[in-house]
Amino acid sequence: MSSYKAKMTTKAAFERYEEVRTRLPKARFPSASAMRSSLADVADEVDAFVLDAFGVLNVGQTPIPGAVERMAQLRAAGKKLVVLTNAASDTRQAALQKYHKLGFDFASHEVVASRDVCAARLAAHLPQGRWGAISTDTDDFHDLAATVRRWTVSDQPDVDGFLLLSSAHLDEATYRALRDAIRAAPRPVLVANPDIVAPREDGLSQEPGFFAHRLADDTKVEPIFFGKPFGNAYDDVKQQLPGIPPHRIAMVGDTLHTDVLGGAAAGFKTVLITDFGLFAGSDTGAYIDESGIRPDFICPTT
Ligand SMILES: [Mg+2]
Repeated sequence: MSSYKAKMTTKAAFERYEEVRTRLPKARFPSASAMRSSLADVADEVDAFVLDAFGVLNVGQTPIPGAVERMAQLRAAGKKLVVLTNAASDTRQAALQKYHKLGFDFASHEVVASRDVCAARLAAHLPQGRWGAISTDTDDFHDLAATVRRWTVSDQPDVDGFLLLSSAHLDEATYRALRDAIRAAPRPVLVANPDIVAPREDGLSQEPGFFAHRLADDTKVEPIFFGKPFGNAYDDVKQQLPGIPPHRIAMVGDTLHTDVLGGAAAGFKTVLITDFGLFAGSDTGAYIDESGIRPDFICPTT
């Protein structure tokens, strides 16, 4: 079974984020962005950096040039570092191993993944309930303290709620089966990766957030999102940065509707990286003007 089949353009993804804007947090933005050459030129203004992974630290299996050295430099300057990633297909341990393979030295407590943000709140939404997971075919859910079974078109176990962890096998048939099951018996839908798209080698793939917003349009169930730009992810980050006021924390990312919007909503300073990730090769300024999601700082690279 091939995975991540459906693809989108950056423009289509941007337009979809704007269409679903009412489901995203509200935030205040600066009237203008300061241009800086890298995070080294932002370091004086903050005590901590919260780093998106894709487009900031790496592109696919390759670290962004200079990013490993930049992290070491910021650390040497006494800055706290936290990686905040919308990733739910794999466990945080798997994400950590990936960063180590790329050459980064992050410790386990320095990585906040949206899968964990969701996992920590499962019981609050469905105490002792049975979850049906839309997941990869290798996920064993061992890190989730709940009863979780994989839910597919051909195997639809009786469940009390749904968990959207991965879109790797979320094809049109699976989407329709899920939609029909929820229409027939409305149940909670938790989304552990709110992203609409993710950059892959062959284009932008449609992610769990894409299907969750479709479900919200097609059913009466409003999905509950975990991860950027939602406050739950930033609450978990703040736990890792005790004593640092939000305005002394910089959220660094390559997207407007997840990294910059979420960072601003949390009261953080925001940094948009433009030469890598979602807007690489695009007119970033036009997207900023159209959305009104304006970062405090714009840097070509990490
Ligand atoms: Mg990114």
